[in-house]
Amino acid sequence: MTQILDGKQLSALMKQQIKAETEEWTRNGGKKPHLAAILVGNDGASETYVASKIKDCEEVGFDSTLVRFDASVSEEELLDAVRRINNDAGIDGLIVQSPLPAHISEQKVVETILPSKDVDGFHPENAGRLALGMPSFVSATPAGIMFLLEHYKVETSGKHCVVLGRSHIVGTPVSLLMSRNTYPGNATVTICHSRTRDLAEITRSADIIIAAIGKPEFLKGDMVKEGAVVVDVGITRVPDSSKKAGFRLAGDVDFASVAPKCSWITPVPGGVGPMTRTALLFNTLKSARKEVYK
Ligand code: NAP
Repeated sequence: MTQILDGKQLSALMKQQIKAETEEWTRNGGKKPHLAAILVGNDGASETYVASKIKDCEEVGFDSTLVRFDASVSEEELLDAVRRINNDAGIDGLIVQSPLPAHISEQKVVETILPSKDVDGFHPENAGRLALGMPSFVSATPAGIMFLLEHYKVETSGKHCVVLGRSHIVGTPVSLLMSRNTYPGNATVTICHSRTRDLAEITRSADIIIAAIGKPEFLKGDMVKEGAVVVDVGITRVPDSSKKAGFRLAGDVDFASVAPKCSWITPVPGGVGPMTRTALLFNTLKSARKEVYK
C-alpha cells in the first residue's frame, strides 16, 4: 500500500511546536527570533517565496524584516546591506533570495553572510561543518527531508539511497545527511547527475530515491522498484492555460506511474515544499537560542 509523506500536515504540526517553543523562550527572557530577508528585483517566484517566508514568521511569532532592492542595485550596495544585518544584534538569521541579477556574485554574497546568521546553511563554513558532522545550519530543503523521514519512521539504515542531482543546496547536502552515522542516515548513497550512465538501472536498485534535478516528471514508474520510498524535491512551473496562474507546479517524479509502486512517496505540492519553509523557521529558532554557534 502506498503511503504519503505528508509535508503539509507535518509542517503544520512543526509550526505549532516552533510557536510553543518560541513562546516559552521569550517567557523565560529570551529574545524573539528575528529573520531578515533580502529580495532583489521582482521575479514572480522569488516574490512568492519571500512573502511566504515572512508570513510563516508571523504565524510562529517571529519578527521579520524584508529588505528590498531594485534589480539595478550594485554588488557593493548589496554586500553593505548584508554587513549591516551581520552587525545587527537584533537579527538572528539572514536569507538572500536567489536568483540574483547576473552582475552580482551569489557566491560573494553568501560568503559575506555571517555563518552564525546563515540560516539557509549555504555559507562554506556551514557546508563544511555539515560534511564534518559538526553542528551546523543545515540548508532548509535537506533538513526538511530529514524531518519527513524521521516523523514517518522511514527505515534508512543499510538502505540504498539514490540521490538525483548534486547541487550545493539539495543533492550534495542530502547525500551527506543520508550517509552519516545517525538516524535518518546510515544509508549507502549513490549520487547521480547529468553525466550518470544507465541512470534507470541505478534507480531501479534503490530503496530510497531523492529526486532533485528540476526536470518535470523525469522519474517514471519503470525506473523504480516495488516498495521504494520516493522523495520528490523538484518544483517546476509548467505552462498550463487551464490554471488561473497560467502554470502548474510539477515535481521531478511522474506521480501517476511511480506512486503505485512505492511504500512511501511525497506529493508535489504538499511534500518537500512546506517542509523547506518550516525547516527555515527551525533554523532561525536555533540561531536565536544560539544552539549551533554558542
Ligand atoms: P540545480 O542546481 O539546477 O541542480 C540540478 C542537478 O540535477 C544537477 O546536479 C544536474 O546535474 C542534475 N541533473 C539535471 N538533469 C539531469 C538528468 N537528466 N539526469 C540526472 N541528473 C540531472 O537544481 P536544484 O537547485 O538542486 O533544484 C532541483 C529541483 O528542486 C528544482 O526543480 C528546484 O526548483 C527544486 N527545489 C525545490 C525545493 C523545495 O522546497 N521543494 C527547494 C530547492 C529546490 P549536473 O550537476 O551534472 O549539471
